[in-house]
Amino acid sequence: MFLKDLLPVPNLMNARKVLFIQPHPDDAEWGAGATIAALTGAGAEVVYVTVTDGSWGTTDPDVAPAELAATRRGEQVEAAAILGVQEIAWLDFPDGNVPAGGTPVLRDPLVSLIREYRPDAVMGPDPWLPYEAHPDHYNVGLAVAASVVFAGLEPPHRVKGLSAHSPAMLAMYSTARPNTFITVDATWEKKLAAIAAHKSQFSGPSWEMARFFLRVQAEELAARARAAGKAAADAALVETFKVLTPLHLHCNQGAEDW
Ligand SMILES: [Zn+2]
Repeated sequence: MFLKDLLPVPNLMNARKVLFIQPHPDDAEWGAGATIAALTGAGAEVVYVTVTDGSWGTTDPDVAPAELAATRRGEQVEAAAILGVQEIAWLDFPDGNVPAGGTPVLRDPLVSLIREYRPDAVMGPDPWLPYEAHPDHYNVGLAVAASVVFAGLEPPHRVKGLSAHSPAMLAMYSTARPNTFITVDATWEKKLAAIAAHKSQFSGPSWEMARFFLRVQAEELAARARAAGKAAADAALVETFKVLTPLHLHCNQGAEDW
């Protein structure tokens, strides 16, 4: 008997209710858009939580941060709808200023949302991505992982009278240690359409470059998945995730290779 057989990795595509937590508007589409479309297409309900207002997402000195935040909110609603996501919660932390790690300032609202929505899968950025330099990404990732663990505990985080809820899995996107390979040939165009809805972020030559980057990345991941026997021989495009259960996420010396 191996530990991996004792605590197997759950199948992300079996999730029926998904709470998808992203640092900024567009991270969901960029990191997992085709998988989100596949999940909603298979009948899953996906709800987004956007942690920051996205007000730093420009190189144009003439764009006012508040105005950009409002624009990006509209773009996010449009992008989500393309992927079959109708509901978005906004935490409105200022862009670039997500509080460090698993602090209660961010963890408590996330625990409340997990208990309120009661998803079987929570999705967040992998906070253990080597060389990730954007603090909003690793800080949100750590807070999400901590919240998945704490949401199942009584009573330290009893907020708003909501009872404990332990999601079946945390699926981390933008990961360097994937254990889950989703073939996304059928929903790739939806992902691209959803990213393109973020017009303030993607337009002109930079969008052409981004499309190309994403395609090559998905092809490389597909080649890796096929070689490992984790995708069909004709799978062309793959998105990857590190999926763990709450039990995997604490004092687990083998988690890196699970
Ligand atoms: Zn981001």
